Amino acid sequence: MTAWHVRGVVLPDDEVRDLWLVGDRVTYEPVAGATTIADGGFVLPGLVDAHCHIGIAPGGAPIGSLDQARELAAVDRDAGVLAIRDAGSPYPYPELDDEPGLPRLARAGRHVAPPRRYLRDIGVEVAAADVPATVTAQARAGNGWVKLVGDWIERDAGDLAPAWDDATLAAAVDAAHAAGARIAVHTFSESAVETMVRAGVDSVEHGTGLSLDLIDVMARQGTALVPTMINIATFGNIADRARDKFPGYAKHMLALRDGFPDVVRAAYEAGVPVYVGTDAGGGISHGLAAREMLLLHERAGMPAADVLRAASWGARDWLGFPGLVEGGLADLVVYPGDPRRDLRVVEAPQRIVLRGRIVR
Ligand SMILES: [Zn+2]
Repeated sequence: MTAWHVRGVVLPDDEVRDLWLVGDRVTYEPVAGATTIADGGFVLPGLVDAHCHIGIAPGGAPIGSLDQARELAAVDRDAGVLAIRDAGSPYPYPELDDEPGLPRLARAGRHVAPPRRYLRDIGVEVAAADVPATVTAQARAGNGWVKLVGDWIERDAGDLAPAWDDATLAAAVDAAHAAGARIAVHTFSESAVETMVRAGVDSVEHGTGLSLDLIDVMARQGTALVPTMINIATFGNIADRARDKFPGYAKHMLALRDGFPDVVRAAYEAGVPVYVGTDAGGGISHGLAAREMLLLHERAGMPAADVLRAASWGARDWLGFPGLVEGGLADLVVYPGDPRRDLRVVEAPQRIVLRGRIVR
């Protein structure tokens, strides 16, 4: 079996260490005959995009083939993203879970969404009575996660509104947990997120409507936040397109966008586990994890070391992919400089190894 040797500063620790990759495993026990593939630099167990869609093609339609999913995931991989949480896919691709050339996958099934309100052809659209059974079915379609659309525009009201009543939103959480899955909820508004956090959802996606009180509840419960700041920055375009027909909605979206860096900063400061997600797929390109990291640092004030944890070892722990520990998984990226001193180095990995195979 091929063995690789890597020497460098293994983050988050400060010391220079030697590690070996044998097959898909990491060891700190020297392996005779290993080839040195990196000497010097700063070593991380690979980046994680914790909110990504490789089942949605550029433009917003479902992908048409497994090969298209492979292509999109490869763009992330080549940017150093070695694990992805797919936050909802209209195209099932369980075949790719263990594909050697692709990032490790934590997947939801299809988005569970309210009828005739959500993005066309993306979600399973169901009335309140069918939500729990649909969540159960989508838990089986995924490999550990369910994605719920907690709110969206309600055209009659001309503004964001919860997808279903409170009891149904809470029942969705219970159904996911009963099926052994974790549940991630899309929320932009102030109302749906309150219900979902109090019902014990595992992660809040976007979370523009979070209040300080709710942030405290999340911190106490350990509820994660995946802010997708790249997505929230596009709210101006959404507002522009909607303004003629839905002026109240347009105004609301801009207010949520403008307040968002402070929401993320407050969540970080309160101790909410924050993770890096780009929301790639549809209108957002793949391969932008580094940009999201820089936004968390520059706009939300997260220190570089904590952004790195949110984008790497912390997110891997959260998703169940062991990092650079004895017996961990053979995924790593090497950067030429210390990303804690200058986070911009994450834009250009020097070496990428995924599942023990050299990507770069
Ligand atoms: Zn998304």
